[in-house]
Amino acid sequence: MKAFTHLPLSREFQENLKYLHYETMTDIQEMSIPPILQGLDVLAQAKTGSGKTAAFGIGLLHNMDTRRYRVQAVVLCPTRELAEQVTAELRRLARFQHNIKLLKITGGFPMHKQEHSLSHQAHIIVGTPGRVLKLLQRGSLVMDEVKMIVLDEADRMLDMGFIDQIQGIMKFAPAKRQTLCFSATFPDEIQALSQSVMNEPVEVKVETQH
Ligand code: ADP
Ligand code: MG
Repeated sequence: MKAFTHLPLSREFQENLKYLHYETMTDIQEMSIPPILQGLDVLAQAKTGSGKTAAFGIGLLHNMDTRRYRVQAVVLCPTRELAEQVTAELRRLARFQHNIKLLKITGGFPMHKQEHSLSHQAHIIVGTPGRVLKLLQRGSLVMDEVKMIVLDEADRMLDMGFIDQIQGIMKFAPAKRQTLCFSATFPDEIQALSQSVMNEPVEVKVETQH
């Protein structure tokens, strides 16, 4: 059982984790956060409810330069609801970073509203693949300074047929970036996806107990 206090995070970040009652890391957090903080690509698999959002969220927030108003990280989620949940969890984790800007980009909202928000620049975008790609193609979302991309619930995104959109989004991202892939299951398609969009990923898996 590893405590969050072992992680090389700022004092403010540690205090916020304590405030949120995050004391002990879950297995997937213990295995994936250290390589994420080292800047490696990570392919992680663990069942639903195992704390995958904080696993990538902590790495993401640790890396943001909040003085620089450019999009530095993009999290892709399969549905609007999941994008909403991830945004909410990231906001809780980021409570100590008063000037951080998170922006949710999903279908079902008028595009011009999102484009207006984007012109003010966010640090972290959380969105669904279709809408994120559309904004990239229109030139209203720029990923030139993106350091990290997270594929959350990657298995579900593949089930829903988002592979072309994901590949399309990656073409707009700098080649030199950190790519994280989180999934509850590990079908062959995930392996193929990771080979095409990741760079020698560290694989971490938490086997489900039967
Ligand atoms: P997953 O994405 O793996 O399905 P979530 O990231 O949604 O799981 O986390 C499930 C719940 O566990 C959330 O309510 C989250 O706040 C909580 N949680 C995550 N990590 C910890 C932790 N280390 N200690 C306490 N609660 C945690
Ligand atoms: Mg999740």
